[in-house]
Amino acid sequence: TSPAPTQAAPLSGVREAVRRTPAYPFTAIDAPIKLDQNESALDLPPELRALALERLATQEWNRYPDLHADTLRHKIAAFEDWDPSGVVVTPGSNVLIKLLTELAGLHQTVLSVQPTFSVYTLESSLLGAETVLMPLNPDFSLPVEALSAELGGGGPGLLFVTQPHAPTGHLDAEADVRAVLDAAGEGWIAVLDEAYHQFSALDGRALVRGRENRVSLRTFSKAWGLAGLRLGYALTSPALAAHLQKLVSAFNVNILTQTVAEVALEHPGYVRERAAQTIAERERVLSALRHHPVYTALPSQANFFLLRTPDADAAYRHLLSRGILVRRQDKLPMLEGCLRISIGTPEQNDALLAALGEISQ
Ligand code: PMP
Repeated sequence: TSPAPTQAAPLSGVREAVRRTPAYPFTAIDAPIKLDQNESALDLPPELRALALERLATQEWNRYPDLHADTLRHKIAAFEDWDPSGVVVTPGSNVLIKLLTELAGLHQTVLSVQPTFSVYTLESSLLGAETVLMPLNPDFSLPVEALSAELGGGGPGLLFVTQPHAPTGHLDAEADVRAVLDAAGEGWIAVLDEAYHQFSALDGRALVRGRENRVSLRTFSKAWGLAGLRLGYALTSPALAAHLQKLVSAFNVNILTQTVAEVALEHPGYVRERAAQTIAERERVLSALRHHPVYTALPSQANFFLLRTPDADAAYRHLLSRGILVRRQDKLPMLEGCLRISIGTPEQNDALLAALGEISQ
């Protein structure tokens, strides 16, 4: 008889880096007023929804979609005034973050700031790469010198700069963003995550254009109001896009998403209009909270803002008791007592202000 196989630890076939990485920290909770995920409060305008459904009805769902979503990529390129061969699309920009970490691989440094968007560190940790996070300055601005010093090491590495920053909503001076990107030499891939750019004064395309190792990440999940479709894209050099495209699994954007996004791109006027409304609502909410006796609303250039409270748990539960769901961020470095609140419709924002107005001590 052959010897009994040695008993391996359960699921020892799973890589160590994956075993020790915690799952994406999110629990879905139902509430009438959802201000917790920085989505758009509004869906695609009804006439565009109808148009998209009409077009979907004529398509063959039994067929695979266009391999690299060429029609969609060309429409994005025309909209963004970008070379189509430098456009890569995936189901959400989160997927691009994963693929970018895979590009540079295990022996790289993934560099960003602290606090940062959790998916950068999640993907770096799953890969088993070294993650280096430089603390933001106390006013949430980029630590330009500390990042530049790290970038001076030459790489290989992957830099994530988020503008406007998440989760603070802070926007840096363009010169500072440029200085950090300029410090990233050939050994680095420098990523400017612009998920919220429509709500801010910075359009980073000029900082990325013409540089082989730079990438702008953009998404249909926020200003476009299409988070449920899952569509994000990279604007980069044709050379880097060609490598990134190899990592994209075949047929990765489905027919439904391609079609609806194409309809939106043919009628993009609503995006600008709604971003302007969101900015106006953000400023109205921030100014209404300026003299709040207990809470401090922090300035933002995104479609969300941070509310600093003496007791985040109590504030969170009070809002939830009024049907308003927000996101706790109080366990993150520098964000003690902070809740993150998305800007909603005017009615939702009124409900938020009314609920916050009930707190006087
Ligand atoms: N980057 C940042 C900074 C974000 O906040 C988000 C959304 N939470 C994303 C990227 C990913 O967006 P999506 O995958 O929906 O395109």
